[in-house]
Amino acid sequence: MSHVFPRHTKADLPVAVAGEGCYLIDSTGKRYLDGSGGAAVSCLGHSDADVTAAVKAQLDKVAFAHTGFFTSDPAEQLADTLTENAPQGIERVYLVSGGSEAVESAVKLARQYFLEIDQPERKRLIARRQSYHGNTLGALAAGGSPERRRHFLPMLIETSHIAPCYEYRFKGEEETAFEYGQRAANDLEKEILSLGPQTVMAFIAEPVVGATAGAVPAVDGYFKRIREICDQYGILLILDEVMCGMGRTGTLFACEHDDVRPDIVTIAKGLGAGYQPIGAMLCSGQIYEAVENGSGFFQHGHTYMGHPVACAASNAVLEALLGRKLVDGVGEKGERLSTALHAALGQHPHVGDIRGRGLFRGIELVEDRESKKPFAPERRVHATVKAAAFEAGLICYPTGGTIDGQSGDHVLLAPPFIIDDNQIDELVSKLSKAV
Ligand code: PMP
Repeated sequence: MSHVFPRHTKADLPVAVAGEGCYLIDSTGKRYLDGSGGAAVSCLGHSDADVTAAVKAQLDKVAFAHTGFFTSDPAEQLADTLTENAPQGIERVYLVSGGSEAVESAVKLARQYFLEIDQPERKRLIARRQSYHGNTLGALAAGGSPERRRHFLPMLIETSHIAPCYEYRFKGEEETAFEYGQRAANDLEKEILSLGPQTVMAFIAEPVVGATAGAVPAVDGYFKRIREICDQYGILLILDEVMCGMGRTGTLFACEHDDVRPDIVTIAKGLGAGYQPIGAMLCSGQIYEAVENGSGFFQHGHTYMGHPVACAASNAVLEALLGRKLVDGVGEKGERLSTALHAALGQHPHVGDIRGRGLFRGIELVEDRESKKPFAPERRVHATVKAAAFEAGLICYPTGGTIDGQSGDHVLLAPPFIIDDNQIDELVSKLSKAV
């Protein structure tokens, strides 16, 4: 009997004993191609010698030094690299241990910022329906899944949820994609006006929606309009790049594609690449200075923040992404993956859409391809596809979300950036058989 709590599934799980490049290996010797990097985590694959060496070297120097007493070279270097490569205006880095902690920190910083600048009524958060921003109570409050929130009401942060921006679902005959994107963005303005502009602190969204929708990029112009609305009403824009950031979509920060200036960005998964738990919340100089010149201290903190070994591993990850130029190859590999997916599944009667950016791709599974009607909740197929693929030795990340009362089934693909052409073919062949 396993004493590990909780299990994600009641099924007996194989025991992972080794990792080799794009493959994980279980205790029976079975090999699994990691088509989703777990959950968009393992961007370098499973046995990167440079990251391993960096971790060992740092362990030989110093493993832990509490940030209340010390900073460390790895933490300073990591913050420097991140800010050098961050979107315009982002100047400070708050290091934590994962995605939920990063979002939690972002929400608390937004709240404290408005206290510091003497706008204490700004407490409300706006997010989007069918969003996921983490599982700690503040991050859960941001997320737009009624199922996840249900057990923990009332939420600690008052959040309202506006329409998401999924061109595939909502684009009607009578409007262009651009117009649809503007309409979706204008939902934010309507919500701000109905809540009262002086009560709203921030809007949070993923530039490319990951787990809950299956790699959906925003429509061109959407985030530009969102930024205008935030500026007009004095609201902070928080971009959650926990899943889509760190090169996954072909640029280090996913929002580079949308040419949008965030006030706060959260990153995690690809930053550690699976070698250690780490996350970060990055903020503008303006927010930082308001706290620094105000009460002087961000009322937050975790024991393991800025952990030297975790930071040393992330420095090696960033060296691989930027120095070894792995991010530069993501666009081309992603196009190859997309072309192969379209060739294998594009005409499948239950495949409604194949989308994404870079090595972040999603396949929407539908009841009927012509009407794009999603499967009814009791007929959802994502778990069956996951099981069939896993049996065949492929790890993919399927989810089913609820959107405006409709359910959707998706398979999310986020393979390591070191995936080669043969492995892309293997991934697509195994996935299409599973579908
Ligand atoms: N935000 C987003 C967009 C995520 O996808 C996730 C994890 N799936 C989180 C936050 C939470 O990250 P973690 O699981 O590391 O706490």
